[in-house]
Amino acid sequence: MTPEELQTLLAHDDAYAESAVVPPIYQTSLFTFASYEEMEGAFAGLGMTPRPMYSRMNNPTGMALEAKLAALEGGEAARAFGSGMAAISTAVLSRLRAGDRIVCIRNVYPGTFRLFTQLFPRFAIETVFVDGRDPLAVAEALPGARLLYLESPTSHVFQLQDLQVLGDLAREHGVFTILDNSWATPIFQRPLEHGIDMVVHSASKYLGGHSDVVAGVAVGRRVDIDRLNQLEMVVLGGKLAAFEAFLLMRSLRTLPARMRQHQASALKLARRLEEHPLVEAVFHPGLESHPQHDLAHRYFSGTSSLFSIRLPDAPRVVKRFVNSLELFRLGVSWGGHESLVFPAMLGFLEPGDRNPYHIFDIPQGLIRLYVGLEATEDLWRDLQQALTLAWRAQEEVEGT
Ligand SMILES: *Cc1c(COP(=O)(O)O)cnc(C)c1O
Repeated sequence: MTPEELQTLLAHDDAYAESAVVPPIYQTSLFTFASYEEMEGAFAGLGMTPRPMYSRMNNPTGMALEAKLAALEGGEAARAFGSGMAAISTAVLSRLRAGDRIVCIRNVYPGTFRLFTQLFPRFAIETVFVDGRDPLAVAEALPGARLLYLESPTSHVFQLQDLQVLGDLAREHGVFTILDNSWATPIFQRPLEHGIDMVVHSASKYLGGHSDVVAGVAVGRRVDIDRLNQLEMVVLGGKLAAFEAFLLMRSLRTLPARMRQHQASALKLARRLEEHPLVEAVFHPGLESHPQHDLAHRYFSGTSSLFSIRLPDAPRVVKRFVNSLELFRLGVSWGGHESLVFPAMLGFLEPGDRNPYHIFDIPQGLIRLYVGLEATEDLWRDLQQALTLAWRAQEEVEGT
């Protein structure tokens, strides 16, 4: 689907009941049957996108959203969930059994890291972490594995993977691939077109776009989505509420427009930050200075607005910068209208090798910035004044 086709698909729906232009919110737990025969038919097709029966399994508002999300990612089917982690855990569990091994890229989202390293070992599922930038390292880890788990770009340090190469390698070894596409959104990256089997998202981020929904989605082939619908989805029960499905439908209308604004604003700020003497590095896949800029060109038709900068490795400097910001507010998550800042060192507080920040060598001075929908020049003024104050803190550090 071309970007133009996507844009029209999101803005336009064939009419719903009563010719409404917006899907109704089906705030109901169950749907009744007219006869024994109809009920029998529904049970016979359980999990196969049948007519709705119970809202843990299917709800028409959610189904409208799922149809849109499947088309957006270029998949045959989609499943919406009550959070990104529900989507990830359910999708991953639908491929695994005791004794299996996952190959996962380093610097994966911390929640996914905890799932793989803290919960799965209880069920004898082991995870090997590899450098996703290195196809040879991935190839070496694949024999005997069940699942290759990707996230491109990775969390915090924004390293990319060559989707086509890794997808092909996995297929040669009979290994299923799942990729977390939350950062790029299907507006800027469509992994299913590059040999990836299933895409997952935290819809709490750009897809929701207004910091008022926690949701997730898995998209892939009909057979793979049916498979998780038939068992893992139903028994784990991480369903999305009808109202939140409605909110997401509303958000998707403006996704292409929002992403264009996020892209332009973030690139402008990232380029200026690169020139600032206090900023040691900027990690943004859209910059020519990104070591994998060629891969970014190949897989992204645009770049989003979450990136990070490295300040000097001094807590005083990081603190002064973060505390001086006025428009960028301190917070987790991203993807909404408001700009946010997250100092990675706060993720170091949980000690030991169970902490992804320890095993993945994230620099102490790393600060994640999320560029929202405020005016770019207002955001730049905010960053500039905070950097000036952080600079003074750096001089104090050097003076002592
Ligand atoms: C936030 C996030 C998740 C988890 O999603 P939730 O909706 O918070 O459960 C997964 N992957 C990435 C890349 C994220 O940023």
